[in-house]
Amino acid sequence: MSPSAAAAAERSYWPLMPYPQPAVTFVRGSGSELWDDQGRRYLDFLAGVAVCSLGHSHPRVAEAVCTQAGRLQHVSNLFGNELAPQLAEEIDTLIGDGTRAGGKVFFSNSGAEANECAFKVARRWAGHGRYVVISAYGSFHGRTLATLHATGQPAKHEIFQPLPEGFRHVAWAEPEALIDAIDPSTAAVLLEPVQGESGVNPAPPGYLAAVRKLCDERGVLLILDEVQTGLGRTGRWFGFHHDEVKPDIVTMAKALGNGMPIGACWARREVADALLPGEHATTFGGQPLAASAALATLAVMREENIPARAARMGEILAGGLARIPGVVKVRGRGLLLAAVLAEPRSAEVAARALETGLVVNAVAPDAIRLAPPLLVSEAEIDEAVSLLADAVLSTNSGTVSGTDVRTDREAKS
Ligand SMILES: *Cc1c(COP(=O)(O)O)cnc(C)c1O
Repeated sequence: MSPSAAAAAERSYWPLMPYPQPAVTFVRGSGSELWDDQGRRYLDFLAGVAVCSLGHSHPRVAEAVCTQAGRLQHVSNLFGNELAPQLAEEIDTLIGDGTRAGGKVFFSNSGAEANECAFKVARRWAGHGRYVVISAYGSFHGRTLATLHATGQPAKHEIFQPLPEGFRHVAWAEPEALIDAIDPSTAAVLLEPVQGESGVNPAPPGYLAAVRKLCDERGVLLILDEVQTGLGRTGRWFGFHHDEVKPDIVTMAKALGNGMPIGACWARREVADALLPGEHATTFGGQPLAASAALATLAVMREENIPARAARMGEILAGGLARIPGVVKVRGRGLLLAAVLAEPRSAEVAARALETGLVVNAVAPDAIRLAPPLLVSEAEIDEAVSLLADAVLSTNSGTVSGTDVRTDREAKS
């Protein structure tokens, strides 16, 4: 390497794998606001990818974590701690939408690990020779080798082949596609109530219920990945509560600790009992420190009636987004929304928004994802809509006029 090339390589050195050097570095957050290392303020309409549902550094969560950190942080799962069983019972009550569902919970540190647990429980329940998990194209279930294979995006698979066996994909939102796909090797069907990462696509009405019926007829489990949709974001405690279906296994993570890493895999009693002591475990999962954050998060969520708030604020945000010239459609549920652009310029729009102080995410080439804290105010929604409108306008190629788009949107709604 020439001295100048070596110097250039040194200058571009960034120690975090595999992430590129970021455009912005945040140092502080409060509610829906963030501040960067230059002292600039941002409105956060991504919330750490649907994680900080109560906003940044919520005082109740911060206090719970600080107190617990000074009392007991970790003992492993060889021993009991006071918080994990209490948290498991609270989750079981939320799964039952206010009454105990009677299942059991395994705690993990992430969404992918919660799904890994779901696969292992499903395989033990189904028994020898039945191990295939069928998921949908366009889904996202994590980045470990097994959850990557469950993720229905073949383009992401190729460079990591061979992937763990036992995963199959069918068309999203087509219950008939499962009829042929389920065979004697199938243990479970795995779906998200709203496909988050592929552009915020809600399950159409009746889809989950039709899949539930099919799973019952064919004797396979229904696993719902609520890692992104769970805990109030869609306007109900869980995404499946909109559809009146009863899943066998539910995974969650993102919002559970409001930023502390914690995930959970809930399974109904008979399914949970198929996994015997020693067959699965984790060092950190369910430790007091992370559990204290989750208990505080759920307590505030209940007090604030977070699902109803997400539903109400979601209506207001969706209405605002739909009025932006250059936005042709708004999809999603509650405060998990995508603004679909007339042109495939979402990366440019998100970058422009960031420059003007709004954090959003380009979830598809033509779609901007909005997942603000669920305690977001109407004034913050107004401000975000206006910043996003400016970003869309300033990246517009000039071929889309505001009037045309508005007409198109009204024709669709
Ligand atoms: C984010 C996400 C995951 C993965 O969670 P990690 O904590 O990143 O492992 C899995 N499933 C869904 C639906 C997600 O949105």
